[in-house]
Amino acid sequence: MVKFLDIQKITSSFEPELSDAVKRVIDSGWYLQGDAVSQFENEYAQYIGAVNCIGTANGLDALRLILKAYIQMGVMKEGDEVIVPANTYIASMLAISDNNLTPILVEPDINTYNLDVNLIEKSITSKTKAIMVVHLYGQVCWSKELEELAKKHNLKIIEDNAQAAGAQITYSSLSALHSRLVRSGALGDAAGHSFYPGKNLGALGDGGAVTTSDDELAHTIRALANYGSTKKYVNDYKGLNSRLDEIQAAVLSVKLRKLDADNQHRREIANYYLQNIKHPDVILPNINSQDSSLSDINCVWHLFVIRHPDRDRLQRYMTENGIQTLIHYPIPPHKQGAYKEWISLSYPITEMIHQNVLSLPISQVMSMEEAQQIVEVINSF
Ligand SMILES: *Cc1c(COP(=O)(O)O)cnc(C)c1O
Repeated sequence: MVKFLDIQKITSSFEPELSDAVKRVIDSGWYLQGDAVSQFENEYAQYIGAVNCIGTANGLDALRLILKAYIQMGVMKEGDEVIVPANTYIASMLAISDNNLTPILVEPDINTYNLDVNLIEKSITSKTKAIMVVHLYGQVCWSKELEELAKKHNLKIIEDNAQAAGAQITYSSLSALHSRLVRSGALGDAAGHSFYPGKNLGALGDGGAVTTSDDELAHTIRALANYGSTKKYVNDYKGLNSRLDEIQAAVLSVKLRKLDADNQHRREIANYYLQNIKHPDVILPNINSQDSSLSDINCVWHLFVIRHPDRDRLQRYMTENGIQTLIHYPIPPHKQGAYKEWISLSYPITEMIHQNVLSLPISQVMSMEEAQQIVEVINSF
């Protein structure tokens, strides 16, 4: 059987370095707020291209803390609105509503499944303070139009980078003549990252981080994540306890070194799928490459998601033929019991996506033979 994701195999691919790193932390007797966390924070900030990185307990907390800090800083207040894609994992919205801010859902572009920038402006009101973009499935959601819109309405742009660790775009600022490569996580005002084990950069448990080049925001988040304390036993804010621990940080430092190579392997699998899946009813993902010479650097293929009008039947067929697939996601956030207040809202594109999507196995340890087997099964459906 081809597993959807073989985490055990991923972990073994980092041995013996991983166990050595964990052992060093165990032996050190120091498990929180030590050298392993500051080392990883420095490495990850540098990798992303942001001035600051603050480790957090998980990705949801990273996003929660960004908004909580903006409230402390007076940038926004309870009751304000944050634009968020209707088509996302529910955590993006939970971070907003947890801060008593109102998520305003906007439909995706059917080609990229990411926030449709053309639909944002009509959702902006006097209460709108930020746009949360989600780089869904690993594809960067960014454009000049988005940046101009945020500037025009004085909105913060927060990136949910949980699914896109390592993705890049060719970026040219409005003033600069030459473009340069910028990673997702360094594009907006602040970004939340997740190191959930199944993410492209996964820990051996929960972990997350905020990256930002705004020093005041970074300082506020660091305090908020540590009981609101700026100095031991001095508490400036009503904070929480949300810290990355030393063992996870040591694990992440080892795995970060191979992230680009791992993402490149995912690209090879993805390109094989794109070139070889040939079925009249299957819709393949559409990567909007800005520059053909750079191929698909703007996607790190966290998930390889296809669409089929009879998705459930295709999934059953694949299971019968030994291929494990998953659905990301089966129920849209606005149809969840958690947000009963949205039950009457209608987002037809989002709903159609949720009905038709199917995620194929893809990872840094998947073999070409497995990819070949998967292609044969789909093409024979
Ligand atoms: C995984 C994920 C999160 C939450 O990250 P956790 O580390 O699991 O808390 C947030 N947003 C998106 C889009 C995700 O995929």
